[in-house]
Amino acid sequence: MYKISDLKENINILNDTISCPVKGCDLIVDRKRRSGNEGKNFICPKHNILITPSTFIYSTDIENFLWNEKEDKILLEKIYKVKRESRMSSENSEDTLTWNVFRYLEKSELLSALLDEISKNQHKIIDIIYWSYSLKENKSWTFLDEARAEFGEAKNKGSEPDIIIQTDKTIFIIEAKFFSSNKTSGYKETLTKRINKALRLK
Ligand SMILES: [Zn+2]
Repeated sequence: MYKISDLKENINILNDTISCPVKGCDLIVDRKRRSGNEGKNFICPKHNILITPSTFIYSTDIENFLWNEKEDKILLEKIYKVKRESRMSSENSEDTLTWNVFRYLEKSELLSALLDEISKNQHKIIDIIYWSYSLKENKSWTFLDEARAEFGEAKNKGSEPDIIIQTDKTIFIIEAKFFSSNKTSGYKETLTKRINKALRLK
């Protein structure tokens, strides 16, 4: 992973070209557009990244993680099987931010202290659900699957909170934001409409 100290403070984004964001690199690539990208080059071969106007993308997810251990690789492979979509190789990926922060806290046994601090209460963690994957159940979390069915969401297209932490007292639902807005369509009239229109399968 390239750190802030490895990256230029500013990059030139021109009409047709962009400079590589890594400090000391003179390479200029084509500017990626929604269409008409045939035959163009967006990759810096020296730094092995694909450069776009809004981010740069590593060739593998692992390069975007703060650490890389076998047990995490195994867990991520299981998560990818139930997770809706994955773009964890982009430098600005919210999913990667979530992983780098919350998986670190979990592994360092700091997560319950964070929850205690947020809620001003003492919590014993029962399960952690990364995207849809329950560590305890070793599969898509049953309670979430049931909630999706209750709201009539299509299978594999359901709502997917980034992290859910089930404790002995409550459920924390965490949605990571990294420059994106916190707006939701499930608000006021839309929310009422959705609740009223929800499929009742039971
Ligand atoms: Zn470069």
